[in-house]
Amino acid sequence: MPTKATAPKLKLARLHGRPEIFYSIQGEGKSLGWPSVFVRSSLCNLHCIWCDTDYTWNWIGTRFPHANDNKPGYQKFDKKAWIEVCEVEAVAREVMQHPCLNVILTGGEPMLQQPAFTELMVELRRHNAGYRFEVETNGTLMPNENFDAAIDQYNVSPKLENSNNPKKLREKASVYRFFAASPKAHFKFVVATPNDLEEVFELIRLYNIGNDKIWLMPEGSGRQALARKRKWLVEVCKEQGFRYTDRLHVQIWGSKKGV
Ligand code: SF4
Repeated sequence: MPTKATAPKLKLARLHGRPEIFYSIQGEGKSLGWPSVFVRSSLCNLHCIWCDTDYTWNWIGTRFPHANDNKPGYQKFDKKAWIEVCEVEAVAREVMQHPCLNVILTGGEPMLQQPAFTELMVELRRHNAGYRFEVETNGTLMPNENFDAAIDQYNVSPKLENSNNPKKLREKASVYRFFAASPKAHFKFVVATPNDLEEVFELIRLYNIGNDKIWLMPEGSGRQALARKRKWLVEVCKEQGFRYTDRLHVQIWGSKKGV
């Protein structure tokens, strides 16, 4: 075990002056509707133009465009003000305050911080072996052995051209192959328009992803945007034998953060 001085620390998103840890329900994908504690990491290695957690990466001084750039009052985020550096033990104590053993590591891109999140999983299981962990990942980073041993479920969301990330950043062949073969991994494709489907089908073919591992989700951070896309996307799922996922948290709380 690392000593306290050498132990990796978690860089979490800071929301309302605190690390963003909250008890809610899983709003997307395979575990939709499952009460869960969310731990939101800061930092991301991608820069999706429609990202709704842009306070984890869209820092002042960077050049990345965002769909909200032209919205009145929108501005990039002050990195120092939006990151909370935390001891793993302190995060574990906060997670344990909630009456729930399903924990979702989200972000940002939590797999940028595998050593610290592995420590968190080990620490929580030291208190209760019943803890279960999911990670929400963009599928560009290979899990290391310890992280892979500790995690129960990978919710992999490959980014498409509609995210505005260059292909060489968003598509890592060896990582996709790893997740396609892992019984712990499921793929959630965010679809903005019918034009995205060719790209989704191509990725599925290229990496040999089984239908039982595929969820399609409409892109949208508001109820109306989701409602517009839901009908035709459900039909695609029926035709192809994929599963459909909505964004339950958006239906309930809209674009509110930390819920
Ligand atoms: S990978 Fe996720 S957190 Fe990162 S920019 Fe894209 S949507 Fe946002």
